[in-house]
Amino acid sequence: MPMKHFDVLIAGAGPAGSACATLMARSGLDVLLCDKEQFPRDKICGDCINPGCWKYFELLGVADSLRKLDLHRIESARMANLSGKQITVPVRATPSRPFFSIKRSTLDNLLVQNAEREGVSLLQQTRILDATFSDGWNVVVRGRNGIETFSCDYLVGADGRNSTIANKIGAWSRKNPFKTARRVGIQWHADVQPRVGSEVQLYTIKEGYFGIVNVDVQNSNVAMVTSPDIARDALANLPRFIERTVYSNPIIGRYATQIEPRCGVVTTYPVNPIRRHWNHPKALLVGDARQTVEPFTGEGVLFALDDGARAARQISTLFDKKVRRTARPRANFWVNRVVSPTLRNQELVESLVWVASEISWLPRLFARTVFRTSL
Ligand SMILES: Cc1cc2nc3c(=O)[nH]c(=O)nc-3n(C[C@H](O)[C@H](O)[C@H](O)COP(=O)(O)OP(=O)(O)OC[C@H]3O[C@@H](n4cnc5c(N)ncnc54)[C@H](O)[C@@H]3O)c2cc1C
Repeated sequence: MPMKHFDVLIAGAGPAGSACATLMARSGLDVLLCDKEQFPRDKICGDCINPGCWKYFELLGVADSLRKLDLHRIESARMANLSGKQITVPVRATPSRPFFSIKRSTLDNLLVQNAEREGVSLLQQTRILDATFSDGWNVVVRGRNGIETFSCDYLVGADGRNSTIANKIGAWSRKNPFKTARRVGIQWHADVQPRVGSEVQLYTIKEGYFGIVNVDVQNSNVAMVTSPDIARDALANLPRFIERTVYSNPIIGRYATQIEPRCGVVTTYPVNPIRRHWNHPKALLVGDARQTVEPFTGEGVLFALDDGARAARQISTLFDKKVRRTARPRANFWVNRVVSPTLRNQELVESLVWVASEISWLPRLFARTVFRTSL
């Protein structure tokens, strides 16, 4: 059988892949979107969606469906350090474009279904195994029909922080200048926390930090960044892990109880910010595959949607020409160059929270810079 040909094949149907696929299909390209998971699938995340994403939800045509979901709005952010000092800042957003929290299974499923409605061919439970280029791409996948090969003109890697496509196109990243230990991301859903209410709360712990936010009437989300040593306990000895992390912050008991996972924890490694570069003229990396941002600020989905949309624009307009990379990455300079390295210096974070709790305008300035409402 001749292998099926597509204009563009996209690996990964997270926000970056779905946004890119939808917009390219809309401009008339024949797009295949493959994901190794079956949707709705959960994804390790703090589940906080930056108001800047509304611009892309409107562009993609999912904003009204989202608004109908009775979204859990976030109205302020609280941060507490290990000495019990805390700061709160209101989050500025308009009522029709709120800062909100949502399970990623719900959000990502909505985006994928929308892509399919717009004419994208979707293959779920289909893992990209290999991709080789000579004149065009040959991409080998393993899916419900076993091993298959597709050909395409352009290949887009939207397959997340541990991207397979990045390896296949020879992408590289510069050495991390901060030479810090690698960190692990951990996430679970716990019972809804009435006293957390409409806040997103961030707590520092001995080795890292975690955030807690309610996502619907039954569930809260706990997302943590910590050392590999401590993370090992999350799988080996959960009660000890919770005691060493969550309950090591003296303030947590005032706001949250019964914070144990409702059904297991998920982990990802490593969580250090990276930025990949590549030279292939017929391939692009988008979203986390191209650049990861510090989870603390809840900016990843915004960056993924923005990057996916720009890649679509670029491939659609230059279809028969060479596309080297999408325009300048827009991840927040302050987040990647200032906040992220700072967060890895525990003593500095403790002192900064202490100083901010004494000077009232400082947290507001920080919130305006970091929790941007648009790119
Ligand atoms: C602990 C933590 C907390 C975070 N909290 C937030 C937050 O509160 N708010 C926020 O905006 N961002 C947050 N982020 C970041 C956010 O989750 C990511 O930036 C975002 O999901 C990136 O989207 P993406 O589409 O690029 O990749 P992903 O969402 O990772 O999607 C990649 C897709 O590719 C698929 N895939 C992978 N490999 C293959 C393969 N070989 N073949 C086929 N499919 C494949 C995966 O199944 C997945 O569906 C957090 C991250 C971490 C680690």
